[in-house]
Amino acid sequence: MELHDRLESVLSVAQESAKQVDTDAAFPADSVSALRSSGLLGLTLPEAVGGLGAGPHELVDVVSSLAGACGSTAMIYLMHVSAAMTVAAAPPPGLPQLLPGLASGETLGSLAFSEAGSRSHFWAPVSKSTSNGAGVHLAARKSWVTSAGHADVYVTSTLNADADVVDIFAIPSATRGVAVSGEWRGLGLRGNASNPMTFDVEVPTDHRIGAAGGGFDLMLQTVMPWFNLGNAAVSVGLSAAAVDASVRHTSVARLEHLEQSLSALPTIRAKLAKMSIDLGCTRAYVGQTAGRLAQPAEDTVLHVLGVKAAANDAALRITDSAMRVCGGAAFSEHLQVDRYFRDARAGSVMAPSADVLYDFYGKAITGQPLF
Ligand SMILES: Cc1cc2nc3c(=O)[nH]c(=O)nc-3n(C[C@H](O)[C@H](O)[C@H](O)COP(=O)(O)OP(=O)(O)OC[C@H]3O[C@@H](n4cnc5c(N)ncnc54)[C@H](O)[C@@H]3O)c2cc1C
Repeated sequence: MELHDRLESVLSVAQESAKQVDTDAAFPADSVSALRSSGLLGLTLPEAVGGLGAGPHELVDVVSSLAGACGSTAMIYLMHVSAAMTVAAAPPPGLPQLLPGLASGETLGSLAFSEAGSRSHFWAPVSKSTSNGAGVHLAARKSWVTSAGHADVYVTSTLNADADVVDIFAIPSATRGVAVSGEWRGLGLRGNASNPMTFDVEVPTDHRIGAAGGGFDLMLQTVMPWFNLGNAAVSVGLSAAAVDASVRHTSVARLEHLEQSLSALPTIRAKLAKMSIDLGCTRAYVGQTAGRLAQPAEDTVLHVLGVKAAANDAALRITDSAMRVCGGAAFSEHLQVDRYFRDARAGSVMAPSADVLYDFYGKAITGQPLF
């Protein structure tokens, strides 16, 4: 099946359910089920394990299209892809069926990195794992886990207390001691089920992803490039939906006494133009970054650091302008522009947050170490 057909089969479901998902703050079960059967959960995984073998450009297309339909579905999808790519980088020997399951859609994954203790500084888990016979005992309070209670496997970071290094484990949801530990109510991405979770589990050592102490490198070299690019694509999808809705609304909304549409007002037209140009610039940067991941170059790291911050902030500007040009019609939730506006607010606070990325980028171009 062509990628386009796989995507269409999910988009129609996601579009139809997005408003209800947002209103009810309900996990988009139908969209995720459509994603599972579409094969798209294996989009970027190698064909050898049942994936589609696609790359960063295709990821941007799929994620941004999903975000235009349903932001929550797009973020759930991105968390799965980020978890799957981490597993693919160093499949845990004790879970030989994990990667094929993530590729086929049987297994939905997510990342459990952020912690109550180290907040958005995901690279510095304060949860502890300690040696315990043939495995480790892992005790962690994770502050936000997208698809909490819905994912089949959680890619979970921890500080190896014996060696003071970061490890990442794949923890199947059925493991004793895995629990959703609080409520989730978000301003946007309300269907995400990004609840806090606790892990108080015994994990065999061969469920570790990568070598002992390899977690930090995996985070920087695998998770961050895919997550940052995909998160930027979510911002692009939400921005594009906001631009489209604004153009549509201001073109048809009439000022009858003046016999003109809202878009005939120079102020409105100029704002629409700025939104559209902002979107175009962001799309170009995201596309360029996808190219840098597909074919690494000297400035790939800078693109990885810059793309999420730039796209997140563009989405804040664009969706804010959309609320402005659509006026009360947007405020009263007729146009779903409010949903794009609220959903877009997640990107910049998701780790690595936009402000952290600006700081890292500044360090990188001035020759200072990031950590
Ligand atoms: C919708 C949603 C879904 C999420 N899903 C997941 C998930 O699936 N898995 C997961 O692990 N996490 C997830 N998170 C958590 C996310 O990645 C962040 O960890 C979380 O949003 C941080 O919130 P906080 O209040 O702890 O931020 P804080 O760390 O308290 O940050 C507060 C402010 O300080 C700024 N700041 C912090 N450090 C610096 C610095 N060094 N320089 C400059 N500014 C700084 C931040 O940018 C932010 O503006 C999710 C978050 C959201 C909103």
